[in-house]
Amino acid sequence: MRLLSMLLPALLLPSLLLPAASRAQEMEADRFKDVVITRTELGPGLYMLMGAGGNIVLASGDDGAVLVDDQFAPLTERILASIKEVTDQPVRWVLNTHWHGDHTGGNEHLGASGALIVAHQNVRQRMSTDQVIQAFGRQVPASPDAALPVVTFSEELDLHWGGHDIQVRHVAAAHTDGDAMVRFVGQDVLHTGDVYFNGMYPFIDTGSGGGIDGMIAGALLGLSLAGEATKIVPGHGPLSDRDGLQTYVTMLQGVRDAVGALVKAGETREQIVAAKPSAPWDPTWGGGFMAPDTFVGIVVDGMTR
Ligand SMILES: [Zn+2]
Repeated sequence: MRLLSMLLPALLLPSLLLPAASRAQEMEADRFKDVVITRTELGPGLYMLMGAGGNIVLASGDDGAVLVDDQFAPLTERILASIKEVTDQPVRWVLNTHWHGDHTGGNEHLGASGALIVAHQNVRQRMSTDQVIQAFGRQVPASPDAALPVVTFSEELDLHWGGHDIQVRHVAAAHTDGDAMVRFVGQDVLHTGDVYFNGMYPFIDTGSGGGIDGMIAGALLGLSLAGEATKIVPGHGPLSDRDGLQTYVTMLQGVRDAVGALVKAGETREQIVAAKPSAPWDPTWGGGFMAPDTFVGIVVDGMTR
């Protein structure tokens, strides 16, 4: 958790100031040099992989593996090495929970190696064109063809593969406009994507169509899909459960109401941030990648856009 908190800001910092492409690649490789991929068994043939970037779920089967998200490109070899420790089968499917590079960086390599990439239609749309993550002023160039989803959906999609029944469900206007949650029915496991940051304020990409109301609706959908014993894999942070997700929803609703009251009262973004409406939640949620002021600012952005 502490390591993650330390790594996240570094991983998401703008890389615009780098002088040349080769230097950029060097630094890109360098910032991942100490990252180790860890693997936790969630059930028969099902694992959570953590390294840097979004959490991964691996489902192995006799006909090849299914991966939910694939972190950053420089980590692909290490991720494949970890997969190889539990199955000899190749990755046949990659499900992306949204378009951000810390969840789709391995797509190009895996796609070129024959995996079929699946995501919401807005993920393909955004990855096909140059993007700007407005909150960080960060430009993200369009992805190469091999990295793009080849199967897209608008609301939901089911995949039955290798003995796994996998339900993919779209969540509207939450972390982005192309979020999906992935449920492994047989093993009672739910991957929430970045709708859920466990233990820290979430990033909400308002420039990509995200907003706190969608985050809350998405988290509530997650709660409705989860039972007492469901293992919940958040987009970031350690493995969680229904109680953890419930606590997170309560926090989001509290911040939404506190910030919303100030927006309604006609206060400016600066005034709202200065009023510190998230203060009651900051000790528990404010020590992660999103500092309280930054989080409050993006909550306002999503409400006033
Ligand atoms: Zn994200």
